[in-house]
Parts: sequence; C-alpha cells; structure tokens
Amino acid sequence: MNVVALAGGVGGAKLVAGLAKILPPDQLIVVVNTGDDFEYLNLRISPDLDTVCYTLAGLANPETGWGQRDETWVTYHSIAQLGGPDWFRLGDKDLATHLIRTRKLSQGKALSTITREHCQRWGIGHRIYPMSDDPIETIVHTQSGDALGFQEYFVHQACQPVVKSFEFKGAEKAKPLTAVLEGIQNADLVIFAPSNPWVSIDPILAVPGYRQAIAEKPVIAVSPIIGGKAVKGPAAKMYQELGFVPTAAVVANHFRQLLTGFVFDTIDRSELEKIERWRIISLVTNILMKDEQDRIRLAEEILRFGEMILHRSR
Ligand code: GDP
Repeated sequence: MNVVALAGGVGGAKLVAGLAKILPPDQLIVVVNTGDDFEYLNLRISPDLDTVCYTLAGLANPETGWGQRDETWVTYHSIAQLGGPDWFRLGDKDLATHLIRTRKLSQGKALSTITREHCQRWGIGHRIYPMSDDPIETIVHTQSGDALGFQEYFVHQACQPVVKSFEFKGAEKAKPLTAVLEGIQNADLVIFAPSNPWVSIDPILAVPGYRQAIAEKPVIAVSPIIGGKAVKGPAAKMYQELGFVPTAAVVANHFRQLLTGFVFDTIDRSELEKIERWRIISLVTNILMKDEQDRIRLAEEILRFGEMILHRSR
C-alpha cells in the first residue's frame, strides 16, 4: 500500500517510526512541516524535520522528544557563558546537523536535497521531504496584538501568550515539491499523523496544490488530543484559546472536509456517534505511543483500517 504521511515533530515522528517499521521504503513518503524553521546563531534550524529524521535513524532523544540521544552540551554552555543567546538549546551533535545544513544551503542546495543526503548518511531508506524548498514561516498572532515567530512563541515564551490566529507567511508563493505531489497522486492512502493540527498539519496543507491533491485520496487522521488534553505541547491550549473545547471530535471537525477515517482514543469513545454523523469512519483504539511496541501496534492498526476503507470504497 502506498502511503503519504503528513507530520510535525514529536507526535508525527512517533507514528512515522511505526509506519516505517511496517512499510518498505518505496511505499512510504513523509512530508514534514517546516513552518517552525528559523534562524538562530546564523544557523538554519528545522526542528520537525530533524525530529522525524533523528527518530527514524534511531538517534532521537527519547526523554526530550527533540535533539539527539547521548548529547553533550559543551558548546551550549560556552555560548551561555559568553552571554548567549541561549534560550534555544542546541546540543553538540545537533549543532553539526545545523552547521552542515546551513553550509549546504549557502552553497545553493535545496532543503529537500540536503535532507535526502543527510538521510542517506543516517541510514534512512524512507523518503522524507520538507513541505517545500521555499521558506514558509508560521506566525502566531496573539490576543495582545503581537505577531510572534513560532519558536519565539513556543520556546522563548513557553507558549504563554494567548493565541488569536495563525499565519503561514510565504505559503501562497511557495512551490510544492513535485516528488510530494506525485507521491500523493500515486498514494492509496494519506495519513495525518497525530501532530498539532494548527501549527504542524495546517502549514503543510497551506502549500499550494497539496490540499487539492489530498482531497482526491482517502485520508485518515490520528487525534493528537486524548481525553481533552494534548499528550505534549500546546494543541489543547490553542483550541481553548480559539474558543473550542479541545476534544477528539474537534480535531475530526478541523479536517472534516478531507477525512475518510479518523483514529481516536478509547477514552473518547463517547464522541463516536458525533464523528460518524459527519460520515467519517472511526477507529477507536489506544492511541498513546509510550514505546516502540505502541508505535508499531498503532501503525499496524491504522494500515489495517486503511485497507478496510479502501476495500469499502471499491
Ligand atoms: P511538534 O511540532 O514537535 O509540536 O510536534 P507535533 O505537532 O508532531 O506533535 C505534537 C502533538 O503530538 C501534540 O499535540 C501531542 O498531543 C501529540 N502527541 C504526542 N505524542 C502522542 C502520542 O503518543 N499519541 C498521540 N495520539 N498523540 C501524541
């Protein structure tokens, strides 16, 4: 089965790692949000792309959900000693990724090419693409009238500002990747990983052409909200501040126009009727991925659910 998965960082990477254990490299394409990318210490940082790649390469730090495992912090501490900036933590190994990526970008290479080269070095066979080679910047507009870059909101201000709306600056002019568009056209199934709908999946859908291509395909989304809470990060807080009670059904509603199927947690079973009334087929199961076994089990269940959906539509 040919699958295209859309992913942000932490939640996305976990499911993608499960899918990559089951699907061979020629059957899985991962499209990763780059709206969180930014420049820091003159380096180009791509947090979600790195989280997905590190996770697939077995290099990810299981405690933080970002950065590399067995990291050292010599450079970070020396930078802090010199007065910073030090609000964004970069480990020594992680720094190497940003140094090499920035150097290659300055030599004129595209982010997708650099990602492919790094994946080869890290032994990743599956195809991982940034959503575009052109810059797209997620801007968080706050209730107090500020327009914050995503990392300024997420890391520096620890998600404290109350959000009002989001903007994906540069999206309308950004070019979609041909490989991604072809991948979607050839896909049997598109999966939205359990990533933040507002700031991980929506930016990908804002790239011209992707939404239209995805609308032609069976789509399954996995809820990042379990029991009214996000497993990690500000997804639930964002829904609240934008006037929604954060529930699995609210996530299904978020993507309603595109969804064939929706996967949500047993704890939220009471929302089943509402979701199915929207003609979305449900899979209710344990969607919390605590370890590798969970990731593989959930990926298997989703792919089986996908087969069932494809079978029904034939
Ligand atoms: P970010 O860009 O690093 O914030 O990464 P994502 O957008 O991919 O991931 C954040 C989302 O992943 C949050 O909304 C979490 O609730 C969700 N998430 C993290 N771990 C899990 C998990 O084990 N299961 C599910 N269903 N969602 C998860």
